[in-house]
Amino acid sequence: MRDPNQRQPVRRVVIVGGGTAGWMAAAGIAKVLGKRLDIKLIESEEIGTVGVGEATIPTLINFHNVLEINEQEFMAETQATFKLGISFESWRNVKEDYIHSFGTTGVDHWTAGFQHFWHKGVQRGLAGDYGDYCLELKASLENRFAHLPNNGMNYAYHLDAGRYAKYLRKLSEPRGVQRIEGKIVSVKQHDNGDVRAVTLASGEDIAGDLFIDCSGFRALLIGEAMNEPLTDWSQWLFCDRAIAVQTESVGDAVPLTRSMAHQAGWQWRIPLQHRVGNGIVFSSRYLDEEQALQQLLANVQGRTLVTPRVIKFKPCQRHQTWKGNVVALGLASGFLEPIESTSIHLIQRSVIRLMQMFPSDGIQQADIDEYNAQCNSEIEHIRDFIILHYHANHRTDAQFWIDAREMSIPASLQHRIDLFRETGRVFRVPNELFAENSWIQVMLGQGIMPKSHHQTADLMGDEELKAFLGNIKGRIDRTVVQLPTHEAYVRRYCGRA
Ligand code: FAD
Repeated sequence: MRDPNQRQPVRRVVIVGGGTAGWMAAAGIAKVLGKRLDIKLIESEEIGTVGVGEATIPTLINFHNVLEINEQEFMAETQATFKLGISFESWRNVKEDYIHSFGTTGVDHWTAGFQHFWHKGVQRGLAGDYGDYCLELKASLENRFAHLPNNGMNYAYHLDAGRYAKYLRKLSEPRGVQRIEGKIVSVKQHDNGDVRAVTLASGEDIAGDLFIDCSGFRALLIGEAMNEPLTDWSQWLFCDRAIAVQTESVGDAVPLTRSMAHQAGWQWRIPLQHRVGNGIVFSSRYLDEEQALQQLLANVQGRTLVTPRVIKFKPCQRHQTWKGNVVALGLASGFLEPIESTSIHLIQRSVIRLMQMFPSDGIQQADIDEYNAQCNSEIEHIRDFIILHYHANHRTDAQFWIDAREMSIPASLQHRIDLFRETGRVFRVPNELFAENSWIQVMLGQGIMPKSHHQTADLMGDEELKAFLGNIKGRIDRTVVQLPTHEAYVRRYCGRA
């Protein structure tokens, strides 16, 4: 517990690490509070960054709005493409695919979500696939994209992680961030455990009032110096390794991240303008590295551009990501595998949260407790959502999938599944990233069909229901055929047409 009588104003902020987390923190803090603070960022070219993390979700646009980023410039500089969702292939069962799209599906009634009307339509033989009623999903299937008025198309990006960090650096330095190249070799602490300074290999000490630990999996401050423990979630999430490789582009970039399930994990394919990011995420308990590498390489298109890299991880979260005068962001704070592209989102959320609670007049325990409580509840909902993808599978071809199906899951997730299966109902809880439509798309996609629907849907007769569903689908189909191809749109938008 901190002594409230010994509060020191925070003026000197030291960011340790210059990967996506470090530069997002630098850009955000400099934009919002830069004039009042002395901000330093230390990174080591010799150590480098993790070099992955290239699929995002729509919330990144909010962060870019805060930074006043010009989208065309950002896309050109990071070789970004648009993303309308994630294609989950062979997750429910071998060769059975579905899309988790960023759009809304159908139209909700205040008492009942669209899924209730759709469910009744299915029972009466009047409804098509759930995805037929989602613009973004249909556009992604047809490989089309355009910005539509009134944010009519909800999207995110695929981006080159290395270029993104450089781009954010370009925005941050003119706003006052001082970048220091150097390797940190030790950490000096006050008697109460707070960090006083980090020492570089050159012998120089960099002192600060608040330290932001963005040092990646190494977690130099929060882990090595402060020893903050991790909550380990490997009982539910078996994957603990990834192998990443970049390949040349073959064909047009699609506006979807592909997530292809394998025998003991899954493979991502992320199309950028200038290349494709690929990787396999797997469990070393079920598959060895050599086999995983072979599975990855057998399933990439185009020439490999780099030597494949193995990355080891543990699905986990620090008990406290803000401890004393250290706030950990990105991989230093914990890690959930990227099947729903949530890590960059969590960095951004934490940067915004830190801005909201910025301890200008001194660090207070009440702020720390609130910040940690919000971070923990946010990540636990995401954890449940990710477990859902593994648990609700029908695969019988591999022990990995059988074990995932047979494991017991967190009570919070079991409740959601039971509620949906029995009633078709889903409720988003406060501070939760994924809205009802995301849960529904993935539950249906993974083969969980509700047994019943809300009575409101029964108030519609067959003709009315048919017209209601037909109008939504017709409007979407008419819009989709008018959209340009995603490839053509990106070329034109980024000045490459
Ligand atoms: P890093 O990129 O590792 O950066 C660490 C920084 O600390 C570097 O600059 C390094 O030089 C510096 N550093 C470390 N030690 C020292 C030292 N001693 N002295 C000085 N500097 C030091 N997220 C998504 O949102 N979408 C995805 O699709 C996605 N895919 C992923 C796939 C995999 C396999 C993995 C492992 C992660 C993925 N992520 C994804 C997560 C994403 O990559 C990270 O959240 C993001 O890149 C942030 O990383 P970071 O900045 O925390 O760490």
